[in-house]
Amino acid sequence: MSTPASRHHKRPRGEGQWALGYREPLNKNEENKKNDDGLNVRQRIIDIYSKGGFDSIDPADLRGRMRWYGLYTQRKPGIDGGKTAILEPEELDDRYFMLRVRIDGGQLDLRQLRAIADISNLYGRGTADLTDRQNIQLHWIEIESVPDIWERLEAVGLSTTEACGDTPRVILGCPLAGIDTDEVIDATEQIQEVYDRFIGDPAFSNLPRKFKTAISGCPAHCTVHEINDVAFVGVELPGGEKGYDLWVGGGLSTNPMFGKRIGVFVRPDQVGEVWAGVAGIFRDYGYRRLRHRARIKFLVNDWGPEKFREVLETEYLKEPLPDGPAPAQPRGSRRDHVGVFPQQDGNFYVGFAPRVGRLDGDKLHLVADIAERHGSGRVRTTVEQKMVILDVAPDRVESLVAELEANDLQVNPSTFRRQTMACTGIEYCKLAIVETKATASDLVDELERRLPGFQEPLTINVNGCPNSCARIQVADIGLKGQLVVDDNGDQVEGFQIHLGGSLGVNSGFGRKVRGLKTTAAALPDYVERVVTHYDTQKKEGESFAD
Ligand code: SF4
Repeated sequence: MSTPASRHHKRPRGEGQWALGYREPLNKNEENKKNDDGLNVRQRIIDIYSKGGFDSIDPADLRGRMRWYGLYTQRKPGIDGGKTAILEPEELDDRYFMLRVRIDGGQLDLRQLRAIADISNLYGRGTADLTDRQNIQLHWIEIESVPDIWERLEAVGLSTTEACGDTPRVILGCPLAGIDTDEVIDATEQIQEVYDRFIGDPAFSNLPRKFKTAISGCPAHCTVHEINDVAFVGVELPGGEKGYDLWVGGGLSTNPMFGKRIGVFVRPDQVGEVWAGVAGIFRDYGYRRLRHRARIKFLVNDWGPEKFREVLETEYLKEPLPDGPAPAQPRGSRRDHVGVFPQQDGNFYVGFAPRVGRLDGDKLHLVADIAERHGSGRVRTTVEQKMVILDVAPDRVESLVAELEANDLQVNPSTFRRQTMACTGIEYCKLAIVETKATASDLVDELERRLPGFQEPLTINVNGCPNSCARIQVADIGLKGQLVVDDNGDQVEGFQIHLGGSLGVNSGFGRKVRGLKTTAAALPDYVERVVTHYDTQKKEGESFAD
């Protein structure tokens, strides 16, 4: 890669952009990455750490490079949220790991699903959480078992490579790619190409921060392209040619931004090169000095889409891309795929809602068995912490739905069950301030009991800290975990409220209502009041965000 430093004025205090000559690491994370590529930790895990145990792990690997293979130490049980910010990282570290299995495009066959279920039961105390990026996360993993886990995963074509870390994370794809009756384009091959060519490639294993990709032709826009670092969104040219509209620079966290259209049409056979160009720009021009400014959204925001396009075309692709159209508006007001719907081939797909994304090893086996009994060999995960079983013959649908529902895997859930998401929270996450999964699950139960007839689309996203893993800013009701003071003057778990966030036609971030907080205990009362107010005051066709 040529270094175009000579063409740019070098400022005395840079942002740590490699392409402008700032190659010296400017913080500890960058130093660690320079000292040794995160990908190299794999061999040490196999040769040294899995044999020597937890205490043999080099601290720079433990808190840094392990992430390149989806491994994070989980939170030591019993440390409350008030201590999160004041304890040293090692005081929060448990001797067990969370392990994230990447499921690119959310695509699983039954062998793969059963392999994850077996690993969960053998090594993860039965834990298995669906994430809002189509992954499955296991907990309680000991370093000694990691090589065996990898063998089991790799035997069925799965991996944990670059599931976390400053890397290209799992590639989101529509769970219905290739079967949706209205799909714009089937992105399966493009997801596979980017995965095969670039995941685990040292050329992209030291990015300034995480890099999230979505490639999809879903008419419901289910991969939330607006909030990915790079997204290829299916479009059709007036003459009928199909390809993608390129979006770059979306992301939530503490400084949320929507991705911007770069304005180009990308043919399917160009997706790999364009992806590498965008990731290359991020690697070379991304800001590395301050971690909290290191996502590509800050660069895109400073450059603007025109300059981004020019650099992409001239320095990386060496050819111009044609202008292209914007994507059509999303189909419907829900982006999940819950329910029973026809496929292109006359079969049906069945999407179901586990409770706030929480499953376990036995349930994963059960899903595989139910799918198999009904003639299906393919299961999908969604970006809403849901699952979909594909290829069900018309005369098998009723029995499959009945079996799922009998096991609390709801195909016709209430709005609250369907549209409430929760991040990992204090149970396992070292950054968490409050509990999330159980709180959200109880909230769903309470709201179902108190507001049984409520059917409108309404998203409730529960986060354990300001990091927005569960996308609080784009939820109708976003709940950001923090400590609050209750009526007795005690500090207790609670939430800052964001209201009215949305994606799609009227994309907007939820408004942080100043001073509007609730204790976790009062959360059902609060949400009930807000929902009832909306339900009784709304005008014809008015959504919650309106
Ligand atoms: Fe952890 Fe915060 Fe992310 Fe929740 S939002 S998983 S608490 S970092």
